[in-house]
Amino acid sequence: MALFGTNGVRGIANEYINPELAVNLARSLGTYMESKGTVAIGCDTRISGQMLKSAAIAGALSTGLNVIDVGTLPTPSIQLYVRDFADAGIVITASHNPREYNGIKLIAGDGTEFPRDGEKEIEKIYYSGKYSIVSWEKTGNFRTDPGANDYYIRNIINSVDAETIRSRRLKVVIDTGCGAGSLTLPLLLRELGCNVLTLGAQPDGTFPWRNPEPTPDALTELSKLVKMTGADLGAAHDGDADRIVFIDENGEFLNEEVLLAMMAKYILECEKGPLVTPVSSSQRMADVAKEASVELYWTAVGSINVARKMMEVGAVFGGEGNGGLIFPKHQYCRDGAMTCAKILEILAKGNKLSELAKSVPQYFNAKTKIPSVNTQTTMEIVKKEASGLGYKMDTIDGVKIWYEDGWVLIRPSGTEPIFRIFAEAKKQERAEELMQEGLQMVIRAEKASAPK
Ligand code: MG
Repeated sequence: MALFGTNGVRGIANEYINPELAVNLARSLGTYMESKGTVAIGCDTRISGQMLKSAAIAGALSTGLNVIDVGTLPTPSIQLYVRDFADAGIVITASHNPREYNGIKLIAGDGTEFPRDGEKEIEKIYYSGKYSIVSWEKTGNFRTDPGANDYYIRNIINSVDAETIRSRRLKVVIDTGCGAGSLTLPLLLRELGCNVLTLGAQPDGTFPWRNPEPTPDALTELSKLVKMTGADLGAAHDGDADRIVFIDENGEFLNEEVLLAMMAKYILECEKGPLVTPVSSSQRMADVAKEASVELYWTAVGSINVARKMMEVGAVFGGEGNGGLIFPKHQYCRDGAMTCAKILEILAKGNKLSELAKSVPQYFNAKTKIPSVNTQTTMEIVKKEASGLGYKMDTIDGVKIWYEDGWVLIRPSGTEPIFRIFAEAKKQERAEELMQEGLQMVIRAEKASAPK
């Protein structure tokens, strides 16, 4: 069984994700690193966080790695810390997953998510059970550093036009959902001179206020409060605050694909250069790139693919259409608080969020999923059929077919035996039609791939 999924190792805390797993995963990392170097270890606000963090610390020390315990913090905060002060990182987090979950995510020395091939090596070591356990006098040094979040906040402030933001004294309502962002976003916004109102800003792993996933229906109170107080902006993090979503001044949820394209447009007004986004993203990104005459690179789904491509091509901006935006001048990872600071910079220049949202082209989406038995064979058959259609297509992740007036993406899920089908067009009916075409292709291929 694969240990690492799309976002590290995830499962129910103290069942699958238990202290033994944390000890042995940290030992595997130490073995992979040949017992050399320093690893920073931190967690989000989940109840089992301290338990798993302690286990991971013990495991790493037993292989001779030095450990810095950076406490409770957002994932991007530890990523920045690792980039500047450590050789690797371990984050105990299950991001937006429900309350009972937890997870373990590894960070590479440059602060990006651990590369897939590295994870594979570590997985091999983990299942072999052969760890480099050092003798007593070589066990690692341990220290704590309570300064990681301060360092993170400072770095964000230095990456935006803080003076302009401060001069506007913007009113912002934030819902950090009792997650790790509760420890950073309120402080960051105060430092940026905002009038800050908070919801769910007490760190609490029971998540008494809302689910860690900031979906529109979980943010109705935030939306109400934005309207009631006449705020300029509402903002909400997921559990580990690498993502953020926004509510405009009228209390309306801002579509994350619109946010991505809107931000790309703004960044390109300040600086020209390539953009990077996964194939699942909206055509809006292509439109924005075309308008500014810059290159857009499509990648496989997953923020690590986006981050690596951005490094490779020297992109000025990139990100995913789920509120995971990457600002290379700050760091090469999804960063919710950084995104918020950048939005404030845009608003401070006299813009309204609702109007900015209208500045990017409108599209409509449709999506569905279907169970799959013979995923690989089915995918091959779909690809063959798609290439016979004569349209432009991309097979970097599943298959994406660009019709004249929209696109459909058919891709197998990384975690479940299903196909996901996304479509986009200028009209809702056309998006539904394209989604149906994709769905029928999968159904036909699934039938053809069934053993006779
Ligand atoms: Mg997250």
